[in-house]
Amino acid sequence: MDESPSQNWFYIEEDLLRRSRWLVLWRLVFISSFLFLTVFLHEKGDSYRFPFSFTPVYSLIALQYFFSILYLLILSRGKVIKGIAFGQLVIDGLFVTSVVYFTGGIESFFSYLYFLVILAAGILFPRQGGLLAALYVGVLYALLLLLQGSGKIPFYYGLVDQPASFSTKYLFYQVIMNGLGFFFVGSLNSIFAKQAQKQQSQIESQRKNIFQLEELNRIVIENLDIGLITLDRENKIQSINRAGEKILGRSPKDLLHKPLMSLFPDLNGGLDLNDTGEGKRMEAAYDTPDGAVITLGFSFNRVKENRSQGIGKIFSFKDISQIKIMENHLRQVDRLALIGKMAAGIAHEVRNPLASISGSIQVLKDDLKEKGTGERLLNIISREVTKLDSLMNDFLAFAKPVQVIESRLDISSLIFETVDLIKKNRRFSPTVVWQLDVAPDLFLKISAGELSQILWNLLLNALQAIPSDGEIFIAARQLRRENDEDWIEIKVKDNGSGISQENKAKIYEPFFTTKDRGTGLGLSIVQKLISDLGGIIHLESSPGKGTEFTVQFPKGAA
Ligand code: ADP
Repeated sequence: MDESPSQNWFYIEEDLLRRSRWLVLWRLVFISSFLFLTVFLHEKGDSYRFPFSFTPVYSLIALQYFFSILYLLILSRGKVIKGIAFGQLVIDGLFVTSVVYFTGGIESFFSYLYFLVILAAGILFPRQGGLLAALYVGVLYALLLLLQGSGKIPFYYGLVDQPASFSTKYLFYQVIMNGLGFFFVGSLNSIFAKQAQKQQSQIESQRKNIFQLEELNRIVIENLDIGLITLDRENKIQSINRAGEKILGRSPKDLLHKPLMSLFPDLNGGLDLNDTGEGKRMEAAYDTPDGAVITLGFSFNRVKENRSQGIGKIFSFKDISQIKIMENHLRQVDRLALIGKMAAGIAHEVRNPLASISGSIQVLKDDLKEKGTGERLLNIISREVTKLDSLMNDFLAFAKPVQVIESRLDISSLIFETVDLIKKNRRFSPTVVWQLDVAPDLFLKISAGELSQILWNLLLNALQAIPSDGEIFIAARQLRRENDEDWIEIKVKDNGSGISQENKAKIYEPFFTTKDRGTGLGLSIVQKLISDLGGIIHLESSPGKGTEFTVQFPKGAA
């Protein structure tokens, strides 16, 4: 904020006007006290006679009343403020000199009044006022004494008959001592006034900075495209910014002082407002007043006790419906691209069995004459048809969109059932050592078919990688991640052949296989299913030692 010189000038004038008025009032108080005291002592009268006449003092007091009223009148119009301030000081100097003159000149004890004039000047003109006034009253006082001392003006002693006579030395002594006093008071006054002014302007600029900062905060908060809600200690809405109102489609009066949970019932259960980790992020559906359902992304922050001013938490949110739509869209585009890649792979893969089939049929025809090879060829046909069938099954599994599951699946039981099924299957070696470390009661929103497919593929690969007496270790547990979300983790570990560094990057690609009879689709299906469910898959392997696959799923509201 820039302050124009005219504005600055206005503030100074305004301040001077205020101080001038105060000075007039203080002067009125002073001369009134002066008057009352003088009248009281004078009228009381006793044997002691005052060494001066009261008449000129009364006249001077009357004159000061007159001037004071004049100042007030002119100041009330707010005009010639500087002139009046200056005039007051000049007249005060003359007033004090007259009082000093009529009360005994060099002998008068009223010379202390000069200090009041210096102080007043310092108040009105803080920079150099005190010093200039010291010079001014010093000159007046010196002139008075010198004129009196030299006999240019008579001593005015009123009732005292014999004027005192003073040596020139005493006169100079008096002038210089008083002059020094004036000078020191004036300098001190200027120093303190400057310091006060400096502090004042520092306070002023700090106040301005604070104001600007507050303004900036307000502007930033108001112009954020993120909704911000502050909650009081009872988790009721204390304030909301403009973006927040816009996202929620409600006016502040519908929102303020309402419990947050009444606004977002979807958050109930999933969020403990009294136990939220810093910056916890989550999503919830929100019904707008016009009937639309949008997805909001939230995050919480607790406000530190000593900075709170009654704010308990800050709740920031954003309409992420578009992002969600985009995410789904991207996932679909991704899947389509992979399906295209797979289709090309399948066309290639289908050709080999088809060649075998058509070759076998050709030979079969000839075999009608030459018996014996028929059974072997039929076996080839049947094997290749099975291969084509499993290829088609895998392809369909991949292309099928993930199911939306409403019910919870007991995954601990499913793991035990799957292992039992494998153990009973005569295709696999009975000497394999199985180790299970599965926590009970692990639940997830997932279809049994999808989780079985993930487990089967991982376990099948492990079984194919180990020797007949190899070991397979399965672990499952619930874990809490740094952002306070609960996840389910499943590990499948074997002590088989392991995966080379080079192959690690390729194993999730469709059709990548190192097996003679593999389709190379197992892990790409596993990865697709896991990512569709918002989970992650991670691999650790060292060739010759074994492989460990770790799969994690967000538990969400399961
Ligand atoms: P497939 O099993 O048909 O080859 P996958 O996609 O399931 O297809 O696996 C791709 C490749 O990843 C396998 O051919 C194999 O080389 C490697 N692989 C997967 N799991 C393991 C494992 N547990 N141990 C060693 N290699 C593995």
